[in-house]
Amino acid sequence: MSAPPSPLLSPSQLAAIAGIGEERSAPAGELLYQVGDRTYPFVAIREGEVAIIDAAGNELVRHGPSGFLGELNLLSGQTVFVNALVTEPLKYIAVERAKLRRLLDEDGPLSDLLLSTFISRREALQSVEGVGLEIVGPRGSEPTMRILEFARANRIPCTWQDAVPVDGGTLPLVRLPGGAELHGPTAGQLLRALGIGLELAPREEVDLLIVGAGPAGLAAAVYGASEGLDTLVVEGTALGGQAGSSRRIENYLGFPAGISGTELTGRAVTQARKFDARTATPYRALSLEPGNGRHLVRLEEDREVAARAVLLATGAQYRRLPVDRLAEFEGTTVFYAAGPPEGQLCAGHRVAVVGGGNSAGQAAVWLARGGALVTLLHRRDSLAETMSDYLIHELERYGVSVRDRSEIAALHGEEGCLAGVTLTSGDALPFSFMFLFLGAHPCTDWLGDTVARDANGFILTGPLVNMDNLLETDIPGVFAAGDVRSGSSKRCATAVGEGSMAVQFVHAHLARTPTVQGAR
Ligand SMILES: Cc1cc2nc3c(=O)[nH]c(=O)nc-3n(C[C@H](O)[C@H](O)[C@H](O)COP(=O)(O)OP(=O)(O)OC[C@H]3O[C@@H](n4cnc5c(N)ncnc54)[C@H](O)[C@@H]3O)c2cc1C
Repeated sequence: MSAPPSPLLSPSQLAAIAGIGEERSAPAGELLYQVGDRTYPFVAIREGEVAIIDAAGNELVRHGPSGFLGELNLLSGQTVFVNALVTEPLKYIAVERAKLRRLLDEDGPLSDLLLSTFISRREALQSVEGVGLEIVGPRGSEPTMRILEFARANRIPCTWQDAVPVDGGTLPLVRLPGGAELHGPTAGQLLRALGIGLELAPREEVDLLIVGAGPAGLAAAVYGASEGLDTLVVEGTALGGQAGSSRRIENYLGFPAGISGTELTGRAVTQARKFDARTATPYRALSLEPGNGRHLVRLEEDREVAARAVLLATGAQYRRLPVDRLAEFEGTTVFYAAGPPEGQLCAGHRVAVVGGGNSAGQAAVWLARGGALVTLLHRRDSLAETMSDYLIHELERYGVSVRDRSEIAALHGEEGCLAGVTLTSGDALPFSFMFLFLGAHPCTDWLGDTVARDANGFILTGPLVNMDNLLETDIPGVFAAGDVRSGSSKRCATAVGEGSMAVQFVHAHLARTPTVQGAR
């Protein structure tokens, strides 16, 4: 693991923190907080030293004068994953979480420093074996794979034991930091056991319900809440959407060096919460019933939300490969995104990246740079038809071999471990891992036939359904923004733009439909 970052606070930043915190001291040997604690204060060090130690006793990093402790769970409220042990007598400033949030809202440079450090520390923790959750269940168990994928999507550090738990019980067994055990938890139960995740009332009533917390949904949450609308965002998997899983977004305005998807969407979530937008996850929307005055959206776990306006921002999902046995390998040796954990896993192995678009190119380069032997398989005559020139050059530069006119006919391997593929041409190629970048399917199946869509399932809006407002669907008061919308350009910036713009149309709709007492 690369050492978690330890930047220093300037004297003026320490003074600002002292203004809202409490001066404390602690002798060497004292634990400031430990694995499994539900909460801990932000700690800024004046004198002395603190070691950060994992549950197995391995030291990860030390922080000294002007340094500070904490990672993402300070903001999210998640259970603590590491121990903080005083190694030299300590004088420090302790700040409770709510006060820290307020300071971050007011102090831009401090907020930048702390947020980016917390996010980098979380990324570093994710690669430490034995930190966070322990998930026990065999790779053939679908609930085990689902919880594992959910933990990864939510960037919760976790270790997976591919085994049947000794004491049996419903799969998987999930051991929380601190030792408590859950048998076969739902994703919601897991998040709430970790101390995160808003629990919705059986029925909620709001001005604006946003379904989906990708860039479009989060942008709408920021604008909706900051402009006074009672705004709720429900998300089925992990806040951040596709963008949250992107290693680096290079073309987002204002970030010339690029920005990681985690950081961009993490900041957006903080910003939305700052304006009092509520975010609830994991609550998947199951149906939409248009109503007079309020539309009703039913959610998993028997919840429902009656909203005066609804924004559909459910984005799109990766297409799967139409071959047998794919599910056996998904999540273990076949992936749909290439982040740091996958990069580490693949170093020194033969890896197939399937697809001819820019996402495939980016992943191939990222994996090759991490030491994998990468072959990019795509079905057209030339990559130039579908991939940007600069990426084609990068593929050459990092030694990625490219096979044109290649389609996969069969997968081989045992017990979830991919061993190779056979192409429709009959060629057999050995691969230990495979990454699929085959385009996207809109997340609209849950809508049944309530909202008009195009032939591919993307939602029609504006003039296409005779509505004046560009983002309004054929149901007045129901809007769509981002990748889920027919004709959208499938980019982060446009999703953000559409999400922000949708709020303007929501205001116009609310102005012409005053609240009807008792409606729904
Ligand atoms: C690996 C990768 C790299 C990328 N790189 C770039 C880049 O460099 N530059 C760029 O501009 N774009 C990039 N993109 C594209 C960009 O991320 C998307 O265009 C953007 O995320 C779309 O935002 P969205 O909010 O419309 O949808 P999404 O990001 O897809 O978010 C939709 C959210 O809705 C949730 N959802 C779906 N169904 C339901 C339901 N029924 N109930 C509740 N929630 C639901 C999903 O879980 C998801 O979180 C990349 C995408 C990927 C996958």
